[in-house]
Formats: sequence, structure tokens, C-alpha cells
Amino acid sequence: METYGLNFKKSLGQNFLTDVNILKKIVNAAELDENDDVIEIGPGIGALTEQIAKKAHSVLALELDDRLIPVLAETLEPYDNIQVIKQDVLKADLKQLLSKYFDGQHRVKVVANLPYYITSPIIIHLLETGIPFDSLVVMMQKEVAERLSAQPGTKAYGSLTVRVQYQMHVKVAFTVSKTVFVPQPKVDSAIVVLSPKEVLTLPKDEQLFFKVVKGCFQHRRKTIWNNLQSFLGKQVDKEKLHQLLLGLDVSPKTRAEKLSIDKFIQLTNKIIDSKI
Ligand code: SAM
Repeated sequence: METYGLNFKKSLGQNFLTDVNILKKIVNAAELDENDDVIEIGPGIGALTEQIAKKAHSVLALELDDRLIPVLAETLEPYDNIQVIKQDVLKADLKQLLSKYFDGQHRVKVVANLPYYITSPIIIHLLETGIPFDSLVVMMQKEVAERLSAQPGTKAYGSLTVRVQYQMHVKVAFTVSKTVFVPQPKVDSAIVVLSPKEVLTLPKDEQLFFKVVKGCFQHRRKTIWNNLQSFLGKQVDKEKLHQLLLGLDVSPKTRAEKLSIDKFIQLTNKIIDSKI
């Protein structure tokens, strides 16, 4: 960065990793080999990219900060299996990029030290592409990792947990101290491995399911009864709603954090069936 006269852009979540041991641990968690094509989000100056390229068949790295493109051209010059493009990942048509840059003959994985200010939107964006990723191995704030991997009945369990665990198995591989980043962020980090569930239980309407989950968690301290009433609107038939919840064996006084993903799916289906 000094050579190029560049400063770190906090607004782009630029906390770079320099410890080779940690970089290698991330790559190991992704279990990369020559059968893998990897998308990296935010290569920075290419420290992680280099370690990925040593193991994988090829890497496509998407970097938003155009000041870093010439830096990456220099640091990654020895590798002929890396392509770097200037691209905002949230605006990327990843399916199109995949068919342009990958040969379709390899597994597709994502490996990244994510920009922390948009961790959740990136993960949702990746899940919404419909690309059958073999895995997503991503570094994020420890607190977000806890939310992604949370179990029902815990404080960290929320709409993000349900949204992600609906499709993916989530495992926290290891945590990383804030001291290994340059510049040092305020919080520790964790590497999370997300892998697709082999069998998905699908709600009758997926979009409604996402909305119901958000609605139930709208006010965390309110009961499911209160949140559902606000979500469904004032005109909702209260007796019908009461019966609907009891039919699911859910007490109206309970809070959303107690409900499993399957319960949210059943709840969505009942809302549809009862035309409430
Ligand atoms: N991979 C490097 C490392 O591990 O040291 C840098 C990781 S740093 C936490 C996040 C990187 O994401 C930065 O290089 C930043 O410029 C880039 N970035 C931020 N927002 C982005 C976006 N919307 N699309 C693509 N890259 C982005």
C-alpha cells in the first residue's frame, strides 16, 4: 500500500490479513484442490488470493476498489490461474460471470475475507443466485458468525439465522483475533463454512416464508402473537390466528426465537392454507 501511496478505505471494510498461517488455515477450511474454481470477494492486495491460487484450479476475484487493480496485477503476476475484475459483488450477475470465466467442469466455491459492512447482504446475494456452490468459506465479524450458526432459543437466533440455515449447514471453523489485521478492526472475526443442505424442506411460497420470518422477528421482545398481528394487519381474524398457532403447537405468548426453521415453514403454509 505504501509503495502505491494508498491509504486503507474504512468505508470499504479494508482490514487486510497478512498472517500466512491464518491465510493457509482459511484455504484448508475450504478443502481446495484442482477440481475447484473459486470466487473470491474483495481480494484487497491479493494475500488470500495467492494462497487460493496455489491450491485451486482457478480463481475469479471481484474487487470494488479500482485503486487496488494495479496493485493486484503486480502481486498476483506470477499466477496464471487468477482473473481479477473490478466489480461490486452486490451488483454482480454471478451466473453470467461464472459462464464467462469458468469452464463449467469444476466445483464452484466461494472463499473470502468479507468486507464487514456488507457481510449479510453478500451472503444473501450469494444464496439468491441459485448457483449450486459447493461451499462458502467466509471470514466475518465473530458476532455475525454467532448469528449465522445460532440455535433456536438463543439470543443470537434471528431472521438472518433462519434465512441462511433454511438453505445451508453452518459451521464456525475457527475464530481469528483482531490483532492479525492491518489496520486492526474493533472486533474479532471468525471463519464460517456454509455448505448446501442436501434435502430442502420447501415452504409453499418461499418469498412469503422470508417475509413471515422477518415479520415474526420484527420486534424481538414482543410475542409471536403481537408480531404476527402487525404483520398480517389489523383486520386479521384473531380467533383464526389463535387457532392457527395452537394447531402448530405454538403458544401465542412465545417469542420468535423459540421457533425452529421447520415451524416457520409450517406457519407460512398454514397462513396460506387458512387464507387468514
Ligand atoms: N482479501 C483481503 C485480505 O484478506 O486481506 C482483503 C479483505 S478486506 C476485509 C475486504 C475487501 O473487499 C477490500 O479489498 C475491499 O475493497 C473489498 N470490497 C468492499 N466492498 C466490496 C464490494 N461491494 N464488492 C467487492 N469488493 C468489495
